[in-house]
Amino acid sequence: MNNQNMIECITEGLLNIVFPLDCKICEKPIRESKGYSICKDCLKTIELIERPYCMKCGKPLIPTDFFKQNREILCLDCKIKKYSFKFSRSTGIYDKVLKKSIHLFKYYREKKLAKPLGKLMVDYLLKNNEFENKLDLIIPVPLHKNDLKKRGFNQSVLLGKVVGDYFSVPVRENILVKKKLTPFQINLSKSEREKNILRAFSVEKSEEIKGKNILILDDVFTTGATVEECTKELTKAQAKNIFVLTLARTV
Ligand SMILES: [Zn+2]
Ligand SMILES: [Zn+2]
Repeated sequence: MNNQNMIECITEGLLNIVFPLDCKICEKPIRESKGYSICKDCLKTIELIERPYCMKCGKPLIPTDFFKQNREILCLDCKIKKYSFKFSRSTGIYDKVLKKSIHLFKYYREKKLAKPLGKLMVDYLLKNNEFENKLDLIIPVPLHKNDLKKRGFNQSVLLGKVVGDYFSVPVRENILVKKKLTPFQINLSKSEREKNILRAFSVEKSEEIKGKNILILDDVFTTGATVEECTKELTKAQAKNIFVLTLARTV
């Protein structure tokens, strides 16, 4: 720990003794704070997605005997639609504590939550070694420059850095850029989302992509339209294999 970090740590510890923080989820005082606005007990309740899930898009499937025995299973969507990425995985269901945490992180700008949330992604990767240490680069889904200015940070970059630091995989922010300003996706239907995001991204430095195994990293997988568009652009730039990892996914 360097001096700056130590001073920050001591200041935070003192502040916490004088003004104990309440957990923004269970509202109980946080005893052992690392500056996170959520207590350890609440973070512990976040469940990681486990098999059975769709081998392509990572959608959790009902654990019937059939799904338990068949590991190469696809969900109904993936039987019709062909995603361009190799496969996508998500750490947890976008619900309860994970959903509230992501809201605090993104919309209430609780930047420090990147650490415990990114750690969940690390734990997921350690448990499910499907990427087989083959990753050359992590590319977080970019924000449009106007959105970045408004929020002040890109949540996917912060998560990507936690994952990249742990596995010693470089995180590259400026290779894939979002050039189209898209309206807020949250209230759009699946087809509207797809239309909205069409050709929203472009690759700036294709020479850095060519022949590489890339992990696209995002906070939430909803319809997959965003990561699919990113995949298409990276494929055009001749990336070798493209995988996707998101912190959460809607069901
Ligand atoms: Zn709590
Ligand atoms: Zn699927």
